[in-house]
Amino acid sequence: MEFKESARLYEEAKKYTPGGVHTSIRNLEPHLVFKKAEGAYIYDADGNRYIDYQGAFGPYILGHNHPYVNNKVIEALSRTDLYGTGTTDLEIELAQKICKHVPSAEQVLFCNSGSEATYHAIRLARAVTKRFKLIKFQGCYHGWHDYVARNMLSSWDMIGKRDPGSAGMMEEAIDNTLVCTFNDLEDVERTLKSNNGEVAALIVEPIPHNIGCIMPQPGFLEGLRKLCSEHGTLLIFDEVITGFRHDIGCYQKVAGVTPDLTTMGKAMANGFPIAAVAGKKEYMQRFNTQPGGDVWFAGTYNGHAVGTAASIATLELMENEPVHEHVFRLGEKMRSGLREILNRLDIEAYVAGFGSVFTTYFMSFEPKNYSDLQHNDATFYVAYRRALMEKGIFKLPMNMKRNHISYSHTDKEIDYTLESIEEVLRDLK
Ligand code: PLP
Repeated sequence: MEFKESARLYEEAKKYTPGGVHTSIRNLEPHLVFKKAEGAYIYDADGNRYIDYQGAFGPYILGHNHPYVNNKVIEALSRTDLYGTGTTDLEIELAQKICKHVPSAEQVLFCNSGSEATYHAIRLARAVTKRFKLIKFQGCYHGWHDYVARNMLSSWDMIGKRDPGSAGMMEEAIDNTLVCTFNDLEDVERTLKSNNGEVAALIVEPIPHNIGCIMPQPGFLEGLRKLCSEHGTLLIFDEVITGFRHDIGCYQKVAGVTPDLTTMGKAMANGFPIAAVAGKKEYMQRFNTQPGGDVWFAGTYNGHAVGTAASIATLELMENEPVHEHVFRLGEKMRSGLREILNRLDIEAYVAGFGSVFTTYFMSFEPKNYSDLQHNDATFYVAYRRALMEKGIFKLPMNMKRNHISYSHTDKEIDYTLESIEEVLRDLK
C-alpha cells in the first residue's frame, strides 16, 4: 500500500495546524489524509480503501454518509437553519423522541459536543446539591474540560494518583475530582464516606468504552445507584458512547438502572454534531432556559437544524428498522469468530465486547478495570493493526480502545475481516 499523497498533504497540514490534526490522538503512523467515506468504508488520498471499525470514535452507528440521515438533513436545510431565539419544530420533535425512549430523560437540552454535555451535567449537580466534589473512574473519559480531564489513560505508575490530563488546568478542579476504581463498590463507598456530604455527583461510563469494553460486573451499576441515593450524590451516566449505540433507550435501559442525569452524543446523530444532557425534571428546571432557573445554559449553535434533523432521522431509523438487531448479530459473529481464531492459533487474548462493539485484549484474563490493562500487550497490537491496514481494515490506533460495527457493515465485511485477521495472526505468531 502506498501513502505518498497522504504524506504530501500532511506536510501542508502541518504548516498551518499544530501537528496537522484538529484533535489530540488523531496522529497516526502512517499518517493518512482522508477524502471519502461511504457506508462501512473510508478512502484515503492515495485511493486506498478500508473497512472502517474506528467509526470516528463511535458516532457512525448507521455507517458513513448514511443516505437516510443525509437526505433528512438536506431536506431540513432547504427550509430552515438556526434562529437564536425561540424554538424550532425539529428541537421539539427530537426532545419528544429522547424523552420517550430514554428512561432517565424527563427533560432534555441540546448542545454540540459530549464535553459540553458533561460540563453542564456536573455544574447542574453542583447547583442542586450545593456540593463541589465529583467522583470519576480511572480510565474513563468524559471530555476535555477541567472538571473531568484527569486520570484518563494514565501511565501505569500514575494509576489512582493525582494525574491531570493537561497543563493549564485549574488546581481546584483537579483536586475536587476524586478518582475511584471501576467495578470496585467498596472503593466508591469508602470515597463517599471519607468525603461525607461533599460529593455532588458521580460520573461514569456505564461501560467504559474509552478503555475498550470493560463490562460492569453484576450489581456494580445497581450498587452505584444505591450508594449515590444514600449519600445524596447525583448519579450521572455518561452515555456519549453507549447511548443509542446499544439501545434506543441507551445502556441504562439494558442495565435497568436509571441515573439522575444522562449525557448523550455520538451515535445520537450518526456523525453530525449534536449532544444532549437529560434528566429528572426537578433538576433540569434549574437550568436558566427555564424562567427563574439559576444554572447557566447557552450556546449559539445549540439546536441547529443540521444536528437536530440528523438525530431525528437516526432515531427514526432505529425505531423503524432492525438497526440494533443487525449490529448485535454482526458483533456476536465477530467476537465468536475472533475467539475461535485465537484459540486455534493458541494466542493469549481476551475478546471483549457488547452489541456492535468489540475489543481484543492481548492478555490472558477478562480485565475488570484500567489497572488490569497493564497486562495487555500494546506492542503486539501495533504490529497487528498495521498488518490489518495493509489488508484494507482500519482499526483504532490505540490498543485499549474499541472497534465499532455499523448498520452498513454486512456479513461480507465481517467474513473478510476474520479471514484477514487469521492470516495476520499466523504471520505475526
Ligand atoms: N464522554 C465520553 C464517554 C466520550 O467518549 C467522549 C468523547 O470521546 C466525551 C464524553 C466527549 O465528547 P466530545 O468529544 O463530543 O466532546
